[in-house]
Amino acid sequence: MAGLKMTCFDCGQVNRVPDDKLTAGPKCATCGTKLMSNKAIEIDLKTLQKAAKTDDVPLVVDFWAPWCGPCRMMAPEFSKAASELSGKARLVKVNTEMHQNASPKFGIRGIPTMVKFAKGKEVKRQSGAVPASAIITWAST
Ligand code: ZN
Repeated sequence: MAGLKMTCFDCGQVNRVPDDKLTAGPKCATCGTKLMSNKAIEIDLKTLQKAAKTDDVPLVVDFWAPWCGPCRMMAPEFSKAASELSGKARLVKVNTEMHQNASPKFGIRGIPTMVKFAKGKEVKRQSGAVPASAIITWAST
């Protein structure tokens, strides 16, 4: 079956979306949740693990925690980037305080750390808070 695989962040169903429909507001066939948001979505570890190894569409993860000042500084920048990149990539956030197994599972040593996954594999990672413009450039290449 043709189409790009995208895991629904709500129910976990893997959907296939034709690449020319990524900007057309694709929805999950099972639960109807929008697959392509213009916001950075908070996801849990289980959803992350599934999406990271399944999704064809680029997935950019911000590993963060509420106690981390630089993470809080970067949050609005990451949101801005999520809106700019909607239709091309999905930006998600994983709260490493709430999901304590996330850091060891993904080898995260410091936060904030961004990791980009595409076609089921890690493509690259970067640590430290950066502005929206840098996130957009980093996530697009
Ligand atoms: Zn769903």
